[in-house]
Amino acid sequence: MKIAILSRNKHLYSTRRLLEAAHARGHSAIVIDFLRCYMNITPHKPTIHFHGRELNDIDSVIPRIGASVSFYGAAVVRQFEMMGIQTLNKSVGITRSRDKLHSLQMLSRKGIGLPITGFANRPDEIEDLIRMVGGAPLVIKLLSGTQGIGVVLAETEQAATSVIEAFMGLKANILVQEYIEEAKGTDIRCFVIGNKVVAAMERKARAGEFRSNLHRGGSSKLIKITPEERSTAVRSAKILGLNVAGVDILRANHGPVVMEVNSSPGLEGIEAATGKDIAGMIIDFLEKTSKPTLIKSVKQQVNTS
Ligand code: ADP
Ligand code: MG
Repeated sequence: MKIAILSRNKHLYSTRRLLEAAHARGHSAIVIDFLRCYMNITPHKPTIHFHGRELNDIDSVIPRIGASVSFYGAAVVRQFEMMGIQTLNKSVGITRSRDKLHSLQMLSRKGIGLPITGFANRPDEIEDLIRMVGGAPLVIKLLSGTQGIGVVLAETEQAATSVIEAFMGLKANILVQEYIEEAKGTDIRCFVIGNKVVAAMERKARAGEFRSNLHRGGSSKLIKITPEERSTAVRSAKILGLNVAGVDILRANHGPVVMEVNSSPGLEGIEAATGKDIAGMIIDFLEKTSKPTLIKSVKQQVNTS
C-alpha cells in the first residue's frame, strides 16, 4: 500500500512511529503537510495537489490533524474521501470530535455516561445553569480548548458565577460541568482501534492540580479497565464514527463517564505507559480494512461457494 500520513511535522513522535510501522510492514509511506495541499473540487475527477504534483497514487490516508487546523485538515481528508481513498478516520468524525458540545450531545443521545453538562448563552441564566448541573464545585470549559487549557475548577458558586460571567463577556463558548471529585485528578485514556480497546492508561494530575493532561505535568501508567469501561470507550468511538480514537473516561461513583473523544490521539504517552506497538496496530487495521483486501475476500468467497 502507499500510505499518506497527514501531519504538519514529520519529526513528531506519533508521525515518526506511524512511518516506521508502515515501512516495517513493507508499505511505502510519506508524510504530507496537509496545509500545503490544495484541491480541485470538480465533478468526476476531484484531485489533490502537493508541491506542484497531483497525488494520484495514494491508497490509504492517516489523518493526524491538530486542533488549531481542524477546518482545513478535515477539508483535505474529505477530498481524499471524494476521490474514493481509504481514510483511517472520516472527516465527519474528526469534525464532530473537535466540538466537545457536539460530541457530548451525540453520546448523550445513545445513553453513554457523561458528567452532567450545561451549555448556555445569556448571563441572566447563570444561577439556574449552576443549579442545573448540581451546584459548586463545578468545571467550566472553553469549547475550543485542548491540552487542559481553558478548563477551570470553580470551588464555590460565587467563583463559578464570576468565571462564567467573564467567559461570556469575552463571547467565548463554554460548557459548565459537574465536577467528578471522586476521580481524584485521575482519568483513563482508552485507545480504541476498530471495535477494541487496544491499550489503556491512567493519567494522574500532579500535586495541587485537578487536570490530568500530560501537557499539564500529569503522569501516566498502565491500567486494567473494567468491561463496562471497555464497552463505553468502544461505543463512544463508534457513535462519533471514528475507527481510531482516544476516549477519556473518569471513574465516577455511578460508573464511567466520558469526558472527551480525541480523533488524533497521541502515541507517545500510551506506547510508553503500555509498552505496546500501537502504531503497528494502526497499520494492521488499515491493511485489514483496505479495499483490495475486501475485494480479495469477496473473490475468495465467490471461489469457495
Ligand atoms: P482538554 O480538551 O483541554 O484536555 P478535558 O475536558 O479533557 O479538556 O479536561 C482536562 C482535564 O481536566 C481532564 O483530563 C480531567 O483530568 C479534568 N477534568 C475535566 N472535566 C472534569 C470533570 N467534569 N470532573 C473532574 N475532572 C475533570
Ligand atoms: Mg482532555
